[in-house]
Amino acid sequence: RAKAEGKDTFRYFEASMGAQARDRRILEQDLRQAVARGEFRLVYQPQKEISSGRMIGFEALLRWQHPERGEVPPSVFIPVAEDSGSIAQIGEWVLATACKEAATWKNPLMVAVNVSAVQLHNPDFSRKVHEVLLRTGLAAGRLELEITETALVKDMPRALATLRQIKALGVRVAMDDFGTGYSSLSNLRAFPFDKIKIDGSFIKQVDRNDQVATIVRAVLGLGRGLGLPVLAEGVETLDELRFLDAEDCDIGQGYFLGRPGPIEAFGELTGVSSAGDGVKEDDGATAK
Ligand code: C2E
Ligand code: MG
Ligand code: MG
Ligand code: MG
Repeated sequence: RAKAEGKDTFRYFEASMGAQARDRRILEQDLRQAVARGEFRLVYQPQKEISSGRMIGFEALLRWQHPERGEVPPSVFIPVAEDSGSIAQIGEWVLATACKEAATWKNPLMVAVNVSAVQLHNPDFSRKVHEVLLRTGLAAGRLELEITETALVKDMPRALATLRQIKALGVRVAMDDFGTGYSSLSNLRAFPFDKIKIDGSFIKQVDRNDQVATIVRAVLGLGRGLGLPVLAEGVETLDELRFLDAEDCDIGQGYFLGRPGPIEAFGELTGVSSAGDGVKEDDGATAK
């Protein structure tokens, strides 16, 4: 009997694995068509100078409206897109759309775009960035690419070559999610970053937890020593912001300073109105 139960358990396991794999394959297929079907859009989250509250720019964050599943979070679909290869096409759409939209803003604010490992290791990447800047007319100095440490390690010489080419265009690069990867310190030295983004997990309770505060102070010291501005992600409360201000952290991003929203929500800064003349997601933004 125990044997039979074990067998049933195994069968059940096998069946559920099958269902999971099937579900994943469907997600992969849906992702491949999502750009063409206009299911993606970008939301924008403010990045502000902490000492003055001045707006510096926005991080563009990808949103996928799936026809049946509703909104699927990036933490779910980005890894699937990376494994299945569709991130290349999706990443191009994000870059082109963010640049095209930012080029229409009435104030020359920065736009930060997340770049995945797959994009970074494409030898054509910097040429594509250049082409998008020319096509959209966005000044290179207004674009910042956010790159995580994990994206660097696959092929460091390749990643370094790409970063140098990107920087030669006048585009800036920020190290994203600092503190959550590995060998952070050597990466800071080896790669020509312009900014450090401390991961939000370190900002949570920074005002109430001595250990966390010590780590954040150390990163701020690192940034000062290296001459790199530091941005704190995930600022959720006034007390966290006060701590960061007292410790001379340069830039903040988080729900307390502004939630991600459609660009029309920031119309007073960008001049983009919601009167139906908003930028459409698929009118020429994809690479030709
Ligand atoms: P990230 O680049 O570190 O982006 C910051 C994430 O933190 C965003 O989640 C943002 O909505 C969230 N966030 C901002 N402020 C707060 C806060 O105060 N509290 C908390 N708890 N969270 C906050 P989101 O939009 O879900 O994106 C998650 C991740 O997905 C991003 O992390 C990034 O790694 C990836 N991602 C998003 N858009 C893109 C994209 O266009 N391309 C690529 N390759 N990855 C993307
Ligand atoms: Mg980011
Ligand atoms: Mg981050
Ligand atoms: Mg993150």
